[in-house]
Amino acid sequence: MFAAGMIGIALTIILILGPSGKVNANRTSIPLDLKSNTVPTVETGQSAIEAIEPVAAEQTALIGTKPATAQETPEPKMSWQSFTVKEGDTLSNLFAQAGYNNTIMYSVLGKGNKNKELTRIFPGEDIAFANDDQQKLNNIKLTRSPLEFVTFNRQDDNTFASETHRRTPEVSVAYTEGEIQSSLFLAGQKAGMSQNQIMALSNIFGWDVDFALDIRQGDRFSLVYEELHLDGVKYKNGKILAATFENQGRKLKAVLYKDSKGDENYFTPDGKSMRKAFIRTPVDFARISSHFNLKRKHPVLHKVRAHRGTDYAAPTGTPVKAAGDGKVLSAGTKGGYGKTIVLQHGQKISTLYAHLHKYARGVRSGARVKQGQVIGYVGSTGMSTGPHLHYEFRVNGIHRNPVKVKLPHAQPIAGAELALFEQQTRDTLAQLETLQNSYQIALND
Ligand SMILES: [Zn+2]
Repeated sequence: MFAAGMIGIALTIILILGPSGKVNANRTSIPLDLKSNTVPTVETGQSAIEAIEPVAAEQTALIGTKPATAQETPEPKMSWQSFTVKEGDTLSNLFAQAGYNNTIMYSVLGKGNKNKELTRIFPGEDIAFANDDQQKLNNIKLTRSPLEFVTFNRQDDNTFASETHRRTPEVSVAYTEGEIQSSLFLAGQKAGMSQNQIMALSNIFGWDVDFALDIRQGDRFSLVYEELHLDGVKYKNGKILAATFENQGRKLKAVLYKDSKGDENYFTPDGKSMRKAFIRTPVDFARISSHFNLKRKHPVLHKVRAHRGTDYAAPTGTPVKAAGDGKVLSAGTKGGYGKTIVLQHGQKISTLYAHLHKYARGVRSGARVKQGQVIGYVGSTGMSTGPHLHYEFRVNGIHRNPVKVKLPHAQPIAGAELALFEQQTRDTLAQLETLQNSYQIALND
């Protein structure tokens, strides 16, 4: 499901960011201090955690794994069969493919499905079955990713015990930068970024830059990010630690911060959230069919009547999202507006969504909504010439142009957290600076 989602997003980028063209981008991978995140994962229940080889002795102690014992019983001879889980596979048909019946499957699952890890199988994972020399199922290995596998081993009492094995990749820091000739997508690829990273970069700056409309040739980006390695071989690109984006001469900078609750978000270097308290456009895949215009001639009444909002044309049934966290002030029919929702956000701001086809479940007067939550669906109720969302943004009761109004930031970092923020982000920001400079020097050599 996740993978399918990412493909959708990647396609969206291609569509939004335009056709192919010349791209100027370069990439450098400068190994820096290894930041190893060797925090053990704690798990409860039947499973035990064991690090996979090779783990140094002191690291073993740190991770808290079982030290290897000197006298281990010699491995019995096993014959393995391995399968890749496909879409639509069930546990029972995987067992059947390997030649085991349901009785055997249930004996592996154990009393009360205690080995329920085995029921959570996903397409793309590998499952391997091993028989002992008496052709009896002895061991199952479920490989979820290069970083995780689960084993189910027959015990002396013929029950099976599960063990989850996780690897911590070695993390190094890398840097890349690029210049956009035609699209962020192409420039990002040229800079060696993965599709997920390009998506992440556009999400970080997406509150300030409209990647469909604002991008110009010559816009630049740079980023410091994690590279994950297994046994010294690069496994994949990791998260972005800090980044810059230069859009039409405007310079933006963001740094990742993990707060004291463990939540990770991007902030400006002085601790303002990169996120805004409001999303600009409450409906995706729509085009503006009518702008905010105080002197518009009304399309139905044919009289000059102020258009105090923005119209987004979209097919009937397109989800409409709450622009920000807030409370439903009203959800009901409002004359020419048809089915209409009004949200109150804090003391000053309210937003209005009109001509809806219907309301989302649970959206009624007094209900709380979160930013991005679907509150209703585009329709053509009331005085309307076709399916569209009429959207209004009011500050202290005064209508403002939803496309242009300055949107307040989400909560900045404050108080005691600020010291922690500064301490944690100082090194990353310094790294970004150093790498940008050394990259420029390398280019000019
Ligand atoms: Zn309108």
